[in-house]
Amino acid sequence: MQNITMPTAGESILFGGDYNPEQWPRETWDEDMRLLKQAHVTSVTLNVFSWALLQPGTPDEETYDFSMLDDIVDTVTKAGLTIVMATSTGALPAWMTLRHPDINRVDFQGRRHRHGGRHNPCPSSPTYREFAPKLAGLIAKRYAHLDNLVCWHISNEMSGYCYCDNCAAAFRVWLKNRYGSVEALNAAWTTNFWGHTYHSFKEIFPPNELGDAVDENRSLLPALTLDYRRFMSDAARGIYNLEVSAVRENSSTATHTIPVTTNFMLDFKDYDYFTWAKDLDVVAWDCYPSYDTAPSHIAMWHDLMRGLKGGPFMLMEQTPSRANWQPFNSMKKPGQMRAQSYQAMAHGADTIQFFQMRRSQAGCEKFHGAVIENDGTSDTRVFRETAALGEELKKLGTSVAGSTVHARVAVIFDWQSWWGMLGSVGPSVSLDYLTEIDRYYSELYRRHIPVDMVSKTSDLSGYDAVFAPCLYMVDEPTAANLRTYVRGGGRLVVTTMSSIANENDRCHLGGAPSPLRDVFGVWAEETDALAPGTSVPLEFAEDVAGSVAPAGSLLCDIVRTDTPAEAGDSTQSTATILATYGGDDYYAGAPAVTVNEFGKGQGFYVATMPNSAALATVVSAVLSGLDAAVLEGGNAVVESASEGLEVSTRTADDGTALTFVIDMAGKGGEVRLSEPRTDVLTGRTIGGPTASESPLTLEKFGVLILQ
Ligand SMILES: [Zn+2]
Repeated sequence: MQNITMPTAGESILFGGDYNPEQWPRETWDEDMRLLKQAHVTSVTLNVFSWALLQPGTPDEETYDFSMLDDIVDTVTKAGLTIVMATSTGALPAWMTLRHPDINRVDFQGRRHRHGGRHNPCPSSPTYREFAPKLAGLIAKRYAHLDNLVCWHISNEMSGYCYCDNCAAAFRVWLKNRYGSVEALNAAWTTNFWGHTYHSFKEIFPPNELGDAVDENRSLLPALTLDYRRFMSDAARGIYNLEVSAVRENSSTATHTIPVTTNFMLDFKDYDYFTWAKDLDVVAWDCYPSYDTAPSHIAMWHDLMRGLKGGPFMLMEQTPSRANWQPFNSMKKPGQMRAQSYQAMAHGADTIQFFQMRRSQAGCEKFHGAVIENDGTSDTRVFRETAALGEELKKLGTSVAGSTVHARVAVIFDWQSWWGMLGSVGPSVSLDYLTEIDRYYSELYRRHIPVDMVSKTSDLSGYDAVFAPCLYMVDEPTAANLRTYVRGGGRLVVTTMSSIANENDRCHLGGAPSPLRDVFGVWAEETDALAPGTSVPLEFAEDVAGSVAPAGSLLCDIVRTDTPAEAGDSTQSTATILATYGGDDYYAGAPAVTVNEFGKGQGFYVATMPNSAALATVVSAVLSGLDAAVLEGGNAVVESASEGLEVSTRTADDGTALTFVIDMAGKGGEVRLSEPRTDVLTGRTIGGPTASESPLTLEKFGVLILQ
């Protein structure tokens, strides 16, 4: 676990979220505070979008006006709430964008933007790099002394790329640092392809529509697009860190440690969060599932947030009721917000925060849900549910905080592979990295097996099995890490589209998964992309349970278990075939799933995208012989549970474990426990041998927290 500083509200966790009083007359503030206290809110996030008020640009650019923020801070402090203080740099003042156009981004089409939107400064803008940290520093200097200030929130939901001349210049410096010389860059990028050889760094431009990009993801020179993503991730992290430094340098009056963070997002591909996490004191993220987001996908992203620093995180935003910016903004059903909040907690959240406290009256978020309605009413289902949750969390106190999830199984998540696959033209437009990660995660989730989401360079030695679907990009350190893991006794699963390329998106020679061919005992001679909606039957050596016939789709590697001729003995077979392709295509009978003994461990290769029946069989084979109770950890207390019930356990350093059983599907269900436990929400003892005849019933979106 990296060093994590979690903000708290004394005896309680942070429960609350974004409050935007600058949208309201002062007369409403005190009443809002009364209602928030009534809802057991312990914390508000202030000052997310106030830059234009704080620095009006007149009479000069050095004039700042903190009077309103002072008043808000005073009001919140008197109400006894803690404050998460944002630096307000998430939206640019209009005057600044007019007087200093360099602060505006140039988009993928090459157009310089005007004022508008948010989260859109150019990271290389000299103006932004001066004004943003200056404001952050002034805010820190003014408010760091507050006892109730518990967290610094830099900018907001940072995202996106810029393609301006300043970024092009900064990119060339970044490239020079990475490659040293243009010759080395040419070699790394294989620029002799389509006559792209460069003779000077000056000849290199950002990969936008005016140049080498096919679209925002794909490029004629994939290594260029890949490095631009890395550069933009670093550049955005750079301006985050400028603010962090300003905040730290100006916090000498602080009476306690105030962690610094920014809020991450769901399914977010722009920046590599594993590299970012090192610069955050605590990971924070905003969870906005849609009406059709699978609960397992939300769980996976919570686990990923926990994995970024290897410990608890902040759930910094969720809606108490509905979003407004999704295509279909369904209301959360009665009990669903509570279930989702406990799901976050079960996977490592030590705060439960919302956007927002009071609904906006105007602006594009007027339809976004909030705890208090925009007319100030609290006589709503949403308010009552929020208040009820607040009351429960108050009783729980900080008993869960700091504990973590112990997992014996890991899934490797890799932004670089995601980018590499996105940037490749071919082999199938239907290929989607997140879908492939989801596929394996959801099968483990269904089995109540806790999962750590880790990076490809994480220490894997503590895991019994590691799944690395579509680990497209394998560099030397990764290859060494994976080889060490399997040699030491680990079970590693890779799939088609794994270990295709090195860190510069240059294909490894010798057939995937080279350079790990010896670990898996196979090499892919060809890869077929199936027509949309078609599949290939899979024939397993063992019987497959269930009524669905096992099949593969999307891609089919035609792998060989012999050693390639250039390696010497062309007939030496090292891998065992677990399944072959059926059907009548020319590769019927060829291996589709294999396992290879390597060192003390095993390397599994899954050559296609398995359907649910095939996947269940593969995962069973991977976990075969491992102690189910050990794999499930604290979840093993749940003997059986209806489909759709999620089980997850957090364990404290002293061994105290809390097991969460949550109906995420909203269908209700039944659960049987192997031994009696106390439900900490009700204080009742439930389950156990006497109850074994009649299982416990969970109502729709019901939650049990078992100790
Ligand atoms: Zn720029």
